[in-house]
Amino acid sequence: MRAMPYDLVIIGSGPGGYSAAVRAGQYGLKTALIEKDPKLGGTCLHVGCIPTKALLHTAEVWQHFVHSADEGIECENPRLNYPRVIDRKNKIVAKHAKGVEFLMRKNKVDWLKGYGTVRGPGQVELREEGGGVRILDTKNILLATGSAARMLPGLEADSQSILTNVEILDLTAVPKTLGIIGAGAVGVEFASIFQRFGTRVTLLEMLPRIVPVEDEEISRELERVFKRSGIRVETGARVENVRRADGCVRFSAALATGKQEDFEVEKLLVAVGRKPNTENLGLERTRVELERGFVKVDADQRTAEPGIYAIGDIVAGTPQLAHVAAMEGMVAVAHIAGMPARPVNKDRIPGVTYTEPGIGSVGLTEAQARAANFKVKVGKFPMAANSRATILGSHDGFVKVVADERYGEILGVHIIGPSGFELIGEAVAAMEAEATIETMRSAIHAHPTLYEALGEAFNAVYGLAINA
Ligand code: NAD
Repeated sequence: MRAMPYDLVIIGSGPGGYSAAVRAGQYGLKTALIEKDPKLGGTCLHVGCIPTKALLHTAEVWQHFVHSADEGIECENPRLNYPRVIDRKNKIVAKHAKGVEFLMRKNKVDWLKGYGTVRGPGQVELREEGGGVRILDTKNILLATGSAARMLPGLEADSQSILTNVEILDLTAVPKTLGIIGAGAVGVEFASIFQRFGTRVTLLEMLPRIVPVEDEEISRELERVFKRSGIRVETGARVENVRRADGCVRFSAALATGKQEDFEVEKLLVAVGRKPNTENLGLERTRVELERGFVKVDADQRTAEPGIYAIGDIVAGTPQLAHVAAMEGMVAVAHIAGMPARPVNKDRIPGVTYTEPGIGSVGLTEAQARAANFKVKVGKFPMAANSRATILGSHDGFVKVVADERYGEILGVHIIGPSGFELIGEAVAAMEAEATIETMRSAIHAHPTLYEALGEAFNAVYGLAINA
């Protein structure tokens, strides 16, 4: 006998899928969450955001030990116990996976273990580990299957030498040398982690600048600081002929200078983007439309097949970020439950990159604002003039505000500096509330704080910063 139909079956338990499941439970929808992996949480929790930032935190603490003499602390022979570092990272992940399980129970969501595919509108097939197959009837389906690391053509990752974001998290020792192909968020974050652990890092990017989605000045500043810290950065580089050798990886690269150079590294991280998990999902049995593998959706996250929604990394046109997936989940579930929700506004999506210095940005870059014919005015404030940054011994970077002169509209804010990824919150809130530069100039920024640099940058739009 078939069970009562679900209101919603969600496939994939990453931040998009599990957050949507919680919200569906809060709205009283009868909900199931399907996950193929043994634990809930997806890429972000198990092999993405959380373990990476756990390692980054340890790298930062380690740096404090290495440079403790600068603070007047004598600390002889500090030693990095890398297996313990990995163990700590694993404990953080395990704790949060338990937290997600708790949230499912609390919100009366059925966690179904196995591989889910769409059988057609209103039907999901669940293949359980033991070989059993169940057919679930449901009024709505939410696709939240995420993405997987892209590889260079002809290469495959292994746990020894050629790595993706997955394998690099479980190295048993800090490598002496690391090559990184791709200087997007994954590439620069791992460059930042391993440089601080003492690895000689070579970062190769095919485009003319690192973190190419950021404002050009942010890319320049990060490259400057990376180079100063000893990371070799090669932009405009074409990597060729990657091959495993005895205990190392060899490749050659055509560099921007026109020179061809051979490289040998202990480990090679390939960080050239992620492909959407939309194959083997049964979508060919539906009217769901794809665009280069990504699912096309409307503002309510509806696909072209009524009753089927999509969110997160598989969606065409929004960046592959955990917080975007989660918000798209809120929009989809609200639509299903007949509750109000504002569609995701692509101009107000924060980007956060956990390098040292950290990056946080939202809205248009200066170049994008000029291309869109705004009457652009820029306010910039250097972290070197922020007292809290000096106290922290971390005064590289700046806050840059891109505004429209006509009405003082905030078009974008770009931060590189200590905790830049945290500071961006103020700018996101300001833009969501449609605050003008004038409003933000009147907001009192406490002293001494890092976020004072934002207050100064808003003032700098009119040439009125105090400390620079
Ligand atoms: P990405 O698309 O952000 O960056 C990939 C980079 O690799 C690009 O700069 C691209 O030009 C370069 N590239 C591609 N092919 C190359 C080649 N053959 N040689 C040299 N360079 C090449 O992808 P990613 O860094 O793998 O990250 C994947 C997704 O995950 C992104 O959407 C990213 O924003 C997201 N992510 C976010 C965070 C964060 O929010 N902190 C952290 C990690 C990943």
